[in-house]
Amino acid sequence: MSSLFPALVSGSTARRPALRFGDRSLTYAELAASAGALAARLEGRGRIAVWATPSLETAVGVVAALLAQVPAVPLNPKSGEGELGHIVSDSAPSLVLAAEGDDLPSPVRELERIDVGTRHAGGVVPQPPAEPDDPAAPALVVYTSGTTGPPKGAVVPRRAIASTLDALADAWQWTGDDVLVHGLPLFHVHGLILGVLGPLRRGGAVRHLGRFSTEGVTRELNAGATMLFGVPTMYHRLAEALAEDAELAKALGRARLLVSGSAALPVHDHERITAATGRPVVERYGMTETLMNTSVRVDGPARPGTVGVPLPGVGLRLVEEDGSTLASYDADGTPTGSYDTEGNPTGAYDGESVGEIQVRGPNLFTEYLNRPDATAAAFTADGWFRTGDMAVRDADGCVRIVGRKATDLIKSGGYKIGAGEIENALLEHPAVREAAVTGEPDDDLGERIVAWVVPVDAPAPGLDRELADHVARRLAPHKRPRTVRFLSALPRNDMGKILKRALPDALADSRPSAHPND
Ligand code: ATP
Ligand code: MG
Repeated sequence: MSSLFPALVSGSTARRPALRFGDRSLTYAELAASAGALAARLEGRGRIAVWATPSLETAVGVVAALLAQVPAVPLNPKSGEGELGHIVSDSAPSLVLAAEGDDLPSPVRELERIDVGTRHAGGVVPQPPAEPDDPAAPALVVYTSGTTGPPKGAVVPRRAIASTLDALADAWQWTGDDVLVHGLPLFHVHGLILGVLGPLRRGGAVRHLGRFSTEGVTRELNAGATMLFGVPTMYHRLAEALAEDAELAKALGRARLLVSGSAALPVHDHERITAATGRPVVERYGMTETLMNTSVRVDGPARPGTVGVPLPGVGLRLVEEDGSTLASYDADGTPTGSYDTEGNPTGAYDGESVGEIQVRGPNLFTEYLNRPDATAAAFTADGWFRTGDMAVRDADGCVRIVGRKATDLIKSGGYKIGAGEIENALLEHPAVREAAVTGEPDDDLGERIVAWVVPVDAPAPGLDRELADHVARRLAPHKRPRTVRFLSALPRNDMGKILKRALPDALADSRPSAHPND
């Protein structure tokens, strides 16, 4: 693997725009100077933390750490002191990078601090140091989103960053002429690795919105941006705004690529966006531990509700509880058949059985920091990473995610039911703004299906029954929610992901429940 950022040292990109946050921007030469000067101060400092606000300073700080080959730990500035305290004591950084004027809270304030400069003084532009060429070296320690439990620090090697960004460039025909509209936070793989390091690896440009807004998206796309990366909550806002905003529809229609990831994109939002703009949304599936696993190819057909096929270089298979392989793919992404635990072929995939997604390849993390037990439990004996996500492979060979094994797979009345398809069905109902589905213990059924619904207006009497009937009609009678609970908002983390474990508390702060069958 050569340098992660050839564009930083290439004369041909020196004057091109690299990063813009608000009204502040850096060309490639300016980024090379700022990050190069900082990298010289970081060499040999061990792990460092980065106070990862959405700012030029965060981007410069992370690039400097990568140049100096010092592992960087992005900190979420919105985290509470408890979570920051956990991450700081777990990762034990030797210092923190911040922007001048950032007010750091207690567990971070105690660290040695370096303020990141974004203008290197003096007329001579220093060359960034030559990057050491060790693909296995740890580049970042990124904490998982904490959706299912306390965040774990995934150690991400340099080769994972390079291989993921190159695989996406291949799938998305991503080039140095692309300009990305970015509205995501920078403490997570989506916003940081894809959203900042991705364009920089290609010699393209990033324009960060600061805070996501539909007006900002329109403005940047009208000003020549070509791509938008977002999470489903953003696409939901776009889908809602499109009904009344013809200018937004025109702007989105001009984008080369609209990409959604980090959580399932509701089919209803995808379809509304395509209907209003003529553009499909490319959905990809990834995680902190594996970076990116699958994507719809831009030259392939859009299939709402699926996340495409494995990216080049990524091994992916669906595995039964007994360890046998239900469905897999060839190295070039062609669907292949089923295998027993010894690897002997057992025929073709039946097209409907649900298996756990397991992943192997250069995109993988190396370990959870200080968690040898969790690391060992996460891998099979032959090196496949157990994602904990359940999926089927549809008739076109695309992966369709059913949900997380821990929270989204409901075992009810002898059936295995995915929460996602019930959520999608609920979201198609005009009275539903947001929906989440869980299973709760039930003496007869094993688990009963519970729907948590944020209604558009105050729920009319009988809406609970109507929604349950709507699901049964759309899908099948055994997928009918037994309980529908209305609440004013779903609990979400800073990436917009629904925190299913926090639903009971959210309900307690909200409205009373309704039981269509009780
Ligand atoms: P934690 O591991 O701490 O509980 P987390 O799993 O949410 O948190 P991330 O690594 O940020 O942390 O998220 C990865 C997960 O997000 C995946 O395992 C998957 O469940 C979900 N995900 C990502 N992209 C998609 C997608 N396109 N469709 C459905 N789910 C997705
Ligand atoms: Mg996870």
